[in-house]
Amino acid sequence: MRRGMTRREREVTDREEIRKILDKCQILHLGLTDGDEPYVVPLNYGYTMENEDLVLYVHGATAGYKLDLIQANPKVFFEMDCDVVPFEGQKACQYGTAYASVMGRGRAEILEDVEEKKKGLSILMKTQTGKDFEFNDKMVSIVSVIRITVSEYTAKHRPLPKMMVSEQ
Ligand SMILES: Cc1cc2nc3c(=O)[nH]c(=O)nc-3n(C[C@H](O)[C@H](O)[C@H](O)COP(=O)(O)OP(=O)(O)OC[C@H]3O[C@@H](n4cnc5c(N)ncnc54)[C@H](O)[C@@H]3O)c2cc1C
Repeated sequence: MRRGMTRREREVTDREEIRKILDKCQILHLGLTDGDEPYVVPLNYGYTMENEDLVLYVHGATAGYKLDLIQANPKVFFEMDCDVVPFEGQKACQYGTAYASVMGRGRAEILEDVEEKKKGLSILMKTQTGKDFEFNDKMVSIVSVIRITVSEYTAKHRPLPKMMVSEQ
């Protein structure tokens, strides 16, 4: 089922603002399915965003549960968040957490082509560190690189309440 955001006023649609969130989060939670059972795994990621096309890259060992699940069903869902700041209030319902987040769905593909794997790892390291790294064939042979072509995504920002901002 697809549905729009309930708290519309918190939705982020500006591409540059979404980029800033993608630059900061560092970790994504990748949702997979094992038959009718869900499985979620945290992973570091890299991304590219050209126009509105978002592509994510993750990497890991060459064997494991998530790879088995992707091979069986490449449909994935992901979530990432940053700027997580809990705040207090006088009543229980005034407590909350400020945050920025992105989530969406797409298709995962385990890359076989060595040059594509190198590209994915370079993008991952650029997102994670801001630095440019190069990879040789030996380095890419010992890891799996997964490309996630995102078909739809949304971003959301819950700022700190104004009163809290003025206190800081
Ligand atoms: C902040 C963070 C960043 C990470 N970044 C990466 C990354 O970039 N690349 C990467 O490959 N891995 C990363 N990991 C580790 C990752 O979460 C998985 O443990 C790893 O990728 C193996 O996943 P798998 O599905 O192949 O599990 P397997 O090794 O096949 O094991 C499957 C079983 O182990 C359990 N399990 C797997 N992972 C975890 C976990 N994290 N915590 C508790 N139980 C677990 C599952 O419940 C399942 O029963 C990161 C973990 C954290 C917390």
